Amino acid sequence: KTLTSSSLALDDQIHLEDHEAIDYEDAKASDVPVGIEACIGNTPFSKSSHCPKLQFLNGGGGSPKDRVALSMINTAEEEGLLTPHSGDTIYEGTVGSTGISLATLGAVVERVPPAPIVDPMHFVNRARTLAAEHTADPNRAGRGYFADQFENAANWHAHFTGTGPEIYRQCHGKLDAFVAGAGTGGTIAGVARFLKSHLPHLDVVLADPQGSGLYNRIKYGVMFNPVEREGTRRRQQVDTIVEGIGINRVTANLEAGRELIDDAVKVTDDQALKMARWLVEKDGIFVGSSAAVNCVAAVETAQRLGKGKRVVTILCDSGSKHLSKFWARAGNIGGKVDSTLAHVMSE
Ligand code: PMP
Repeated sequence: KTLTSSSLALDDQIHLEDHEAIDYEDAKASDVPVGIEACIGNTPFSKSSHCPKLQFLNGGGGSPKDRVALSMINTAEEEGLLTPHSGDTIYEGTVGSTGISLATLGAVVERVPPAPIVDPMHFVNRARTLAAEHTADPNRAGRGYFADQFENAANWHAHFTGTGPEIYRQCHGKLDAFVAGAGTGGTIAGVARFLKSHLPHLDVVLADPQGSGLYNRIKYGVMFNPVEREGTRRRQQVDTIVEGIGINRVTANLEAGRELIDDAVKVTDDQALKMARWLVEKDGIFVGSSAAVNCVAAVETAQRLGKGKRVVTILCDSGSKHLSKFWARAGNIGGKVDSTLAHVMSE
């Protein structure tokens, strides 16, 4: 049977006459899963004892950002900021995953060079400007909507109402630590807020790649100079091959859970590369760079907490999105599995 969807832009080009079609609205009213939304959330855990959650099995763009994109779009529609089929257009500054999730039906991409957040050409500022220009242009249909994943509360909310409760349910309420990196901060803040409301003694640990400014701030409580809040250091791409996590400013999404973060672990590129190899060889899981960082920090946390504790972390995306940079290096390092690592994982 073929599913038809009124929102599927390719309908016209796909010949459905020969098939028995299921009506989208009818199917939605029953329990039949329909459309991309039905593939978002309820991601499984890996079988490893250290409990990574396989977020790259989300159905749209293949990362937790599917949950975030859906949440931001639903909220904007509820608030009347975005109207389907009106010409309204979503603008977003993204290094990858959020853009991919928002763009499951197509996008125009403008690449901008790395720049400090105070620069108008910083990818976030550029998206904000383009959205405003669209809205102000009388010759263009609809309005520009700046999704603003870094500051938009619908981001951490998606994890507070989705990822967090899922982890709790899947672990039957038994977990001792949650470990995650921060790109926007939405994951760690939303999950921590939900889990800590049920498990006040849970350890929430930030996994931070080399070159990121968050580790010192979380670990040693180094206070922000308000003038430096946005950070003027060069972006982390020049400091690490890890993509998607590690920032030098406190976003609204990170702030939503910052006080709930108990500890931070700094992870080098070399550690992340070795972990990525280990996961492929031992678990058959092919992950991206931020997932590898999360796993290194999860193992360190497991070591610190001692035997018999349950540590949960997030495998954000698949290695296939990281072939040119991260896996170009990870593919070349020796495949020898670190015996200490193997020992910790098995316990
Ligand atoms: N991993 C990858 C690959 C990402 O793209 C992101 C988001 N930029 C993250 C992890 C971090 O998630 P969050 O934005 O919720 O902190």
